[in-house]
Amino acid sequence: MDKKKVKIDQSACIMCGACVGSYPDDFKFSDEGPAEPVTGEADPEAADICAVGAISFEE
Ligand code: SF4
Repeated sequence: MDKKKVKIDQSACIMCGACVGSYPDDFKFSDEGPAEPVTGEADPEAADICAVGAISFEE
């Protein structure tokens, strides 16, 4: 699937690591703790993996 521009609500991120573990090319942990995008784009299916809905995509 084509990657899309991704946004992470870092105040909602509980640092579970699901996105980082499943999509290591797209997500990493920031120095402050919460996940952040690696390139700014990610697989849109990654939104489903976040239990707290912190990952969203622009249409
Ligand atoms: S899956 Fe969601 S809560 Fe877990 S690390 Fe990624 S953004 Fe944070």
